[in-house]
Amino acid sequence: MNSKNTVDKPTNFIRNVIDEDLSKGKYNKVITRFPPEPNGYLHIGHAKSICLNFGTALDYDGYCNLRFDDTNPSKEDIEYVNSIKNDVKWLGYNWNDEIKFSSNYFHKFYECALELIKKELAYVCFLSADKTRKYRGTLKKPGRNSPYRDSTVEENLNLFEKMKIGKFKEGECVLRAKIDMASSFMCLRDPTLYRIRFETHHQTKDDWCIYPMYDFAHCIGDAIEGVTHSICTLEFQDNRRIYDWTLENLDLFNKPERPYQYEFSRLNLEYATTSKRKLKLLVDNNYVSGWDDPRMPTLSGLRRRGYTPASIRDFSERIGVSKVNSLTDISILESSIRDDLNNIAPRSMAVIDAVKLIIENYPEEKIESLLAPNHPQNEDMGNREIYFSREIYIDRDDFAEVPPNKKFKRLAINKEVRLRNAYIIKATRVKKDAEGNITTIFCTYDPNTLGKNPTDGRKVKGVIHFVECSKSIQAEFKIYDRLFLNNNPSKFEDFSSIINPDSLIIKKGYVEHNLKSAEVEKSYQFEREGYFCRDRSDNALVFNKTVGLRDAWNQ
Ligand code: ATP
Ligand code: MG
Repeated sequence: MNSKNTVDKPTNFIRNVIDEDLSKGKYNKVITRFPPEPNGYLHIGHAKSICLNFGTALDYDGYCNLRFDDTNPSKEDIEYVNSIKNDVKWLGYNWNDEIKFSSNYFHKFYECALELIKKELAYVCFLSADKTRKYRGTLKKPGRNSPYRDSTVEENLNLFEKMKIGKFKEGECVLRAKIDMASSFMCLRDPTLYRIRFETHHQTKDDWCIYPMYDFAHCIGDAIEGVTHSICTLEFQDNRRIYDWTLENLDLFNKPERPYQYEFSRLNLEYATTSKRKLKLLVDNNYVSGWDDPRMPTLSGLRRRGYTPASIRDFSERIGVSKVNSLTDISILESSIRDDLNNIAPRSMAVIDAVKLIIENYPEEKIESLLAPNHPQNEDMGNREIYFSREIYIDRDDFAEVPPNKKFKRLAINKEVRLRNAYIIKATRVKKDAEGNITTIFCTYDPNTLGKNPTDGRKVKGVIHFVECSKSIQAEFKIYDRLFLNNNPSKFEDFSSIINPDSLIIKKGYVEHNLKSAEVEKSYQFEREGYFCRDRSDNALVFNKTVGLRDAWNQ
């Protein structure tokens, strides 16, 4: 086995470990896993972990399991299981074999617990939560042994059996590992292995009322599946000691080729929260319309916003893998999608804030059909038919009665611009309503300028976009801005003061006729406006703005 597929990839400390393990013959295949807890939707931070776990395994010709870490029935739901499966597939990854659930291994975990009890390495403890805390000590002070620590193996087997058959109340007792109450790692001070929960589990229903803790279940799940590199985020660094302790004390798993845990820094993204609990708060408090609101950093939200799987995989590659916690600049994500869409999104014209324009020297009743390229650099994307007539819509911002400054390259009275894919026009006068708002702009056009410069050599610099009035169709545009006013919302527990009141602005305008049946989620570049994709909302033609053409925030 070699790392032949990895030559082009930037290396990272995890790849270095893998290269070394393979060269030493510790493993002959790389097996990873992605272990989400089905208690929320996946977000952009999970995408980093998915790309790392699935991507690394793929690069080494290995595989990655999708395993639901479903050991806490109280917060989990099948709705989340399904959304997670969808999101992983959408990102472009396939899990090995069937989906795994930690709950598939509940019997195995139970047997492992019995083994530890029999080895006098686990005991049933009846200390209250409060007392347990007091006995644990502090970072400066060692803990004290629980009075239940020295119960005999028989007593413990008996008590654990009673826990299992529901003889004790929730919280009355737990099974604890017997490790070291004086350890400088607090997590090693006899951590809990099992607790009682009388709750129906989405997979195992009412079969169990004892549930293993993550630290106990995770390493065993990895070992059962033959995982080689168990990659997780830095907050589990100390817990790695429990991971190792557990596997080293179980006969079946204590072998050199057992799994090992490696930690990397989690993604924290500017203007976004990657805490599932806080994302749920946003949904529950109606700050957003749901988990898939296009302002959410969830994969379903990003997808609805118009992000492509390729752009998210590219983003993960750009940010890399390290052990340093930081706040990632949102512009990295935005430039990933911009770069992808610039290549693949067909061009189209949409007028978002429309004002009518009448070309007085153009024949009445005439409608011309013109060809417009779908991509300026890629002829293979072909052309589309657009229309032109005496009445068109342009964007209000593309006209000024008097140019505000010398740099103004758009339309003004007595000034010419080119209409994208069509003719050169010159504004002559305007009509206004009682409040002084312009309702119609009157122009003339130069019939000899279709697809060519004026023959008399005069230069016309500005280009604006338009749609023909009778053929264009009405559409709604949802223009998104940052959901938060603060770039690090994770610092806030109460979001109410930092929610951006203008994070969604809805506008009504017009698009080209050919977008009438635009595919949901397919991206377009609305020329001069940005990248948009059709929302899935039933019949109405609604376009979500994915991102602008340039980084408006850094200008
Ligand atoms: P939360 O703390 O919000 O509940 P979690 O980390 O518990 O999130 P899990 O469903 O357990 O969420 O995560 C599944 C995997 O994704 C874990 O391996 C976890 O380390 C990883 N992960 C979660 N959040 C991030 C993040 N922001 N960046 C990178 N990886 C992450
Ligand atoms: Mg978790």
